[in-house]
Amino acid sequence: MSKAERIKPDLEFIEELQSVGGQDIKKCYQCATCSVVCPLSPMDNSFPRKEMAWAQWGLKDKLMGDIDMWLCHKCGQCSDLCPRGAYPGELMASLRNIAYRSLVGPQCLGKWMSSAKHLPKLIGIPAILYLLIWLISASIHGTPFPVGHEGEIEYGLIFPPLWTVDLIFVPLLIFVLYTFYKGIKNLYAEFDKQPRTFVIGYEKPKNILVSLWQVIKEEVVTHKKWKDCGEEQDDQTKFQGHLFLFYSFVALAIVTALLSASFWADIFGIWEHSYPMAFFNPLNLLANIGAIGLVVGLVYLTKRRINDTGRDASTFYDWYLLGIIWVVAITGILSEVFRLSEAVGLTYISYYLHLISVFMLIGYLPWSKLGHFVYRIAALAYARKIGRISTEIENNKNKLYVL
Ligand code: SF4
Ligand code: SF4
Repeated sequence: MSKAERIKPDLEFIEELQSVGGQDIKKCYQCATCSVVCPLSPMDNSFPRKEMAWAQWGLKDKLMGDIDMWLCHKCGQCSDLCPRGAYPGELMASLRNIAYRSLVGPQCLGKWMSSAKHLPKLIGIPAILYLLIWLISASIHGTPFPVGHEGEIEYGLIFPPLWTVDLIFVPLLIFVLYTFYKGIKNLYAEFDKQPRTFVIGYEKPKNILVSLWQVIKEEVVTHKKWKDCGEEQDDQTKFQGHLFLFYSFVALAIVTALLSASFWADIFGIWEHSYPMAFFNPLNLLANIGAIGLVVGLVYLTKRRINDTGRDASTFYDWYLLGIIWVVAITGILSEVFRLSEAVGLTYISYYLHLISVFMLIGYLPWSKLGHFVYRIAALAYARKIGRISTEIENNKNKLYVL
């Protein structure tokens, strides 16, 4: 006879859940319609019905180690069809928000990222940092808006690449990568704690790197799950928006990395670094294509969010991310437009705002909604590793084992 387990509800956790989007969990009467209609739920031990029950019972440990919350891509189909208006899709999103907010410290950043009232602090850190750099450069040049010998505008005169890119963004990037490493380690530790039911005779678990490669190849590159998620509702705007944003970020990351490399190659005399680039320079063209793609993706996703009249159409999490990417794109484009039209003051002001927004996008990444992109990939790789999802399962062939 199996040992009875005493359920210890975490009432504080239930309140926290209710305050970040799970306010209707008590309405659920476990009909399982949500699990039936979910296009992404595996057949065994399906979601999100069980998560609704766990949430009602306040089973924090079980939910924080629940890999299935990361399999949900928030298409909203379950919420649309729930006969009780319990919003299971919103519960899954709230769980993810709580999870990546608390996976790793400093916890205050997670708290600041959860509410608009902390926005001044988030903006204040990079704003003061770059203002100091601007003041130092202005005192060196004797003006806050200096130009080169031939009257050309160079961002580097006020914001030298060494200070603004290498000495700030490189340590920031290392900090963010280390934070993700710790966060993923903690996430996997939570997954490992969960009991699993093994089905006899199925495949062996895969190596995590093999699983990660499969996720990148089959899901990240193609954004297949986003596509599947919107298919039933005949709405591909989320898929298209995410795809544009993803490839634009890839293009802009390549440009930034190559620019930084050429800057250092110039210092060591290997390559002559000339910045700003000529308009038809391939790197400049790639940057412009990336910027256009970013705006297109943002238009898709903003339009979708505005048209979304669902209960959680305008959470701070969603708007913070969209807002900050909009500011990055607009200030980046304006800096270039003002520079080409030789508007010195406006160029530096736009570029200053651009640096602040890029800092906010990168520096707070592990606690922002964009951070879940990284955690989701890590979780999907883990899910494949243990066989929770696999090509075989999707094809209804060799099922592995279930959690
Ligand atoms: S969330 Fe809604 S659809 Fe899902 S089990 Fe509960 S009542 Fe049914
Ligand atoms: S929001 Fe979509 S993917 Fe997530 S549980 Fe509901 S139906 Fe499934």
